[in-house]
Amino acid sequence: MGTSQNRVSLRPASRTRARATAALLVTGAALVAISLLLPHPVGADETALVLTALAMAVAGGIVWALAARVAGWGAHAILAAVVAVTSLLIYESGIAVGQYGTIFVWATLVSSIYFPRRVAIVHLGWLLLTYGAVLLLVENTAGYSPLTRWLFTLISLSVVVLLITGIVARRARADERARHFFDLSRDMLCTANMDGYFVELNGAWTAALGYDLEELRAVPFVERVHPDDRERTEAEAAGLFEGAETLSFENRYRAKDGTWHWLRWSSQLSPDESLVYARAADVTELKRIEAEREELFDQVREMARCDALTGLPNRRALEEQLPQAMARARRRRSSLVVAILDIDHFKAYNDTYGHLAGDEVLRACARAWDSTLRAEDTIARFGGEEFLVLLPDMEPAEAADIVERLRERTPMNQSCSAGLAHWDFAESIDELLGRADQALYLAKAGGRDRIAEAPLAE
Ligand code: GH3
Ligand code: MG
Ligand code: MG
Repeated sequence: MGTSQNRVSLRPASRTRARATAALLVTGAALVAISLLLPHPVGADETALVLTALAMAVAGGIVWALAARVAGWGAHAILAAVVAVTSLLIYESGIAVGQYGTIFVWATLVSSIYFPRRVAIVHLGWLLLTYGAVLLLVENTAGYSPLTRWLFTLISLSVVVLLITGIVARRARADERARHFFDLSRDMLCTANMDGYFVELNGAWTAALGYDLEELRAVPFVERVHPDDRERTEAEAAGLFEGAETLSFENRYRAKDGTWHWLRWSSQLSPDESLVYARAADVTELKRIEAEREELFDQVREMARCDALTGLPNRRALEEQLPQAMARARRRRSSLVVAILDIDHFKAYNDTYGHLAGDEVLRACARAWDSTLRAEDTIARFGGEEFLVLLPDMEPAEAADIVERLRERTPMNQSCSAGLAHWDFAESIDELLGRADQALYLAKAGGRDRIAEAPLAE
């Protein structure tokens, strides 16, 4: 199915419409003037003739004003009523066919300017019928000579044909341009009616979803929306009627091959609330890339906070966690202890057994110590063969016991030294870690394989 089936119809731009309206008024006035100037039946009521001409002018004005504003059948009814009433007036006043020709021209012009082409053709048919009936009916009452009558008819029809041809040609060019843009768009453009069916679609729909345009028009739009997205979609559509405009609403639509495509919508209700104008972009691939990037980002974030050798949190992660632990301790006035554990003579171990064996010791320490601690405690690899343990909610004496237990569980016949510091609620992270490091230095200086506690800062 080609995209040539797509129809798009644009109402004339306001300037074009103003010019068309001016042409309509000038033509109407000219025809009324001609009809007044031409000879009329002997004995015909002059006043009735003028009144009829005025009635036609007023009726034309009313049709012109209302047809542009009244939606749907109301406007057609107005047009039909005006034709009928004015015809009746003319008939009653016994005036000739020329005036019928004039009203015929007016009504046809109004219709062709303010209604879609198909509707204007229906109007034209109706007017021709009325005009034909009038030609038959008034023959006896009108006193014009056959020549005058046919002259009027000829003038009227020529003007109608000329103007309608011009208007239709201009509309066709505008339609052609609009259709060209419509099909050129890579976005999926469409209109939908109030029953939820697509009316017009461009070729991008077929390219994205695999359906031909008839298949897309055949079922209500929401039927192919993912069941989980239907409620949201209906709520969004309801929002359009409350004056909202959809800007970046997303839902999933089933393609012909059964896959779900993410569509991002912007849509708007037409001014007369009879159509929804919408543009959809297929963002499936974009969303996949976004999800992939998000996952990658999570991985990178995780990696940046994790020590690759032992799998423990690294120093960066710990530095993020410490301020939170301190804030919590301050809030609850509960105690917080940090301890630095450092493997003794590790350089010698490396030198003797090799770096890979040293790595294994680090991993074994991480496993053993991590499994000894409570869930709320944290152990991180602080750097090299040093580990930092964070013990919240724990008095120094109890903390010392825990650290002793960790030291006892140092695997692979290694020993370690530990320095403890009890946070005093006032000192900074650097000061607290500095005291723990001092305590570790004391433990090393005291002969290693022991624990030392930092005195509280003065
Ligand atoms: P001390 O008892 O005073 O702590 O002596 P030490 O040898 O353990 O301390 P020192 O700071 O002199 O040496 C630390 C060693 O830790 C040096 C370095 O080779 C080793 N080391 C640091 N990071 C790693 C690592 O990732 N893998 C291995 N295998 N060794 C490491
Ligand atoms: Mg060290
Ligand atoms: Mg060491």
